[in-house]
Amino acid sequence: MVSPSSNLATLILLLSVSMAASASFEENFVQCLSFYSDKAASFYASIYTPQNASFNKILESSTQNLSGGHDYEGLSYVSEVETHFIIVDLSKLRAVNVDIEDNTAWIQVGATIGEVYYKIYEKSLVHGFPAGLCTILGVGGHITGGAYGSMMRKYGLGADNVLDARIVDANGQILDREAVGEDLFWAIRGGGGASFGILLWWK
Ligand SMILES: Cc1cc2nc3c(=O)[nH]c(=O)nc-3n(C[C@H](O)[C@H](O)[C@H](O)COP(=O)(O)OP(=O)(O)OC[C@H]3O[C@@H](n4cnc5c(N)ncnc54)[C@H](O)[C@@H]3O)c2cc1C
Repeated sequence: MVSPSSNLATLILLLSVSMAASASFEENFVQCLSFYSDKAASFYASIYTPQNASFNKILESSTQNLSGGHDYEGLSYVSEVETHFIIVDLSKLRAVNVDIEDNTAWIQVGATIGEVYYKIYEKSLVHGFPAGLCTILGVGGHITGGAYGSMMRKYGLGADNVLDARIVDANGQILDREAVGEDLFWAIRGGGGASFGILLWWK
């Protein structure tokens, strides 16, 4: 014999099962946290889902200085020369065009290395690029300094894997590998690009 109270309990159970089925995985996860932890509210802001965040938002949440400045000596944003100088903000040059069939990508220098890894991953689960570990490094300065990382032993540096580039010289001309010549092309892959011009793209 079923008592009225057990009927009620069954109804509540059924309701909660159907609510759980209609709730998204993310909602269930948050509910589960609140149920099992009295401190859950304090880390809600750290829960990212496709509903409340994009890849860039998550990436930028770990960035302390969004205007660049990974250079250890501060060369990208200070000057000891007592004349005026300008800072060129490259952060809007962010295109990453991956051509998986060709095993190549054209990357604008304002993209971060994390964005590059992510765009490659979007196209293929078996491709990658051998560069740094810190995903918020800018591709511009990073590759001009070599770009070592966890795939270095097998594939070399990021700079070893550069096929071409676009660089603006002091006369405002945009040059490619052929136009700059092999000596300068060698120099910008390890010698610090800022001594020679402003890189716009790496291939
Ligand atoms: C937290 C942290 C982690 C790091 N991890 C690694 C790592 O794993 N592997 C590794 O190899 N290195 C690593 N580095 C070093 C890093 O690669 C260099 O500091 C690199 O120069 C950063 O480049 P950026 O464009 O992010 O920085 P920025 O400070 O913007 O630029 C650095 C230098 O490059 C020049 N530069 C920048 N963009 C251009 C451009 N488009 N054309 C010409 N010159 C340009 C700037 O003038 C400046 O001299 C790390 C650095 C930090 C701070």
